[in-house]
Amino acid sequence: MIQASLTELAAALGARKISSVELTTLFLDRIDALNPTLNAFITVDHDGALAAARAADARLAAGTAGPLTGIPIAHKDVFCTEGVRTTCASKMLENFVSPYDAHVVGQLKAAGAVMLGKTNMDEFAMGSSNENTFFGAARNPWDTTRVTGGSSGGSAVAVAARLSPMATGTDTGGSVRQPAALTGVTGIKPSYGVVSRYGMIAYASSLDQGGAFGRSAEDCALLLTAMAGFDPRDSTSLEREREDYSRALNQPLAGLRIGLPKEFFADGMDDDVRAAIDAALAHYRQLGATTVEVSLPNAKLAIPAYYVIAPAEASSNLSRFDGVRYGHRAADYTDLADMYGKSRAEGFGAEVKRRILVGTYVLSHGYYDAYYLQAQKLRRLIAEDFQRAFEHCDVIAGPTSPTVAWTLGEKNDDPVQMYLQDIYTIAVNLAGLPGLSLPCGTGAGDLPVGLQLIGNYFDEAHLLNVAHGFQQGTDWHRRTPAVG
Ligand code: GLN
Repeated sequence: MIQASLTELAAALGARKISSVELTTLFLDRIDALNPTLNAFITVDHDGALAAARAADARLAAGTAGPLTGIPIAHKDVFCTEGVRTTCASKMLENFVSPYDAHVVGQLKAAGAVMLGKTNMDEFAMGSSNENTFFGAARNPWDTTRVTGGSSGGSAVAVAARLSPMATGTDTGGSVRQPAALTGVTGIKPSYGVVSRYGMIAYASSLDQGGAFGRSAEDCALLLTAMAGFDPRDSTSLEREREDYSRALNQPLAGLRIGLPKEFFADGMDDDVRAAIDAALAHYRQLGATTVEVSLPNAKLAIPAYYVIAPAEASSNLSRFDGVRYGHRAADYTDLADMYGKSRAEGFGAEVKRRILVGTYVLSHGYYDAYYLQAQKLRRLIAEDFQRAFEHCDVIAGPTSPTVAWTLGEKNDDPVQMYLQDIYTIAVNLAGLPGLSLPCGTGAGDLPVGLQLIGNYFDEAHLLNVAHGFQQGTDWHRRTPAVG
């Protein structure tokens, strides 16, 4: 059962081969057995999950079930959940219980999905390794001495190690795609505005976007269909018709034009990653696709632009954590300013403080024009590069990450090395485009390698189709780590 796809689980539930309570218990037991090693979950809600499972079983019996009713899910701990603490992996929010559900959480509740708990992440979604967490790093199930990728590392591990059949994440600069690649699962970040940010704790609002983790593109399509949709409570939510992201899964790939950005295939990618990517592209050619070289000349500016824009927005968003209304408050202080200062000094971790400092600096008088405004101009150039590339191809492909999962602690002393891990993912966020990572092979140490597919705006269903076509003829997405 733990290997089953969402469609298979729905069929088993529908045919009464298993109840949601039984299925939920199966996954809760796996979490109890493996989470002490993997640290994928910050909070496990045994009682809530079983209550939701009982309600799902009633719906299944009454014939009012949908495709996800009764199926367990894990939510990244950045999504607010009414009654269950939402920590954002920060000491600041260690004991914060939201009075409402995030839009995504509410949608999945309404669909009858059963929340198992909240997953580990980099604090406030700032990181690429899930090591910037107050709750201890999540561990890669393929090799527990290695990182999971970040920031949605816990959600990726939950799916990779079969602690949950599906999980939600968020992707500001790569946080769904990169951990998906490093743990061997499929993850999609839709176009900016497709998934409501309501109740998703803000990091960099113009880049943050909710996304889906699954064992396969087919599973991601089902989950994304439930997550997406217009929400008037998010001013950047797009007023579009609801979509069925599974609708195009089985379209043939003959004639597909895959663009390969020459900048992605220049220096920087490890040889083992390149070999897996080349083999995946050869498979696509066998399916009738053609590859064409394209250019993203400004892609090299994505990391510097991102590390001005994202910290700028973060410094503003995180000013709400002042110890007054909610979150950590220092025990001893002399006056209000001292209380603010001490609460923030104690509540935030080092990377979060670094970004608040950088963000405050680039927004300050005299530097705003030199940094922030320049970065916004670069953002436009990067978005235009993609549009020019899409004149010659239907999707863009390349690596998700330049390396396989590295050893815990290896890059912790050098923030720039860590930032460079997102070299292939960040431009996609700056442009607001959809991106997907699917497992396409293995590199050194038998560790997973992810292929990134980038589509034009609102091309999610097509991206999922391109990934599904690959998964129909390959088994990389079925490999399961031997943990426990
Ligand atoms: N690693 C990037 C950062 O640290 C992206 C994180 C994310 O997508 N949330 O900001």
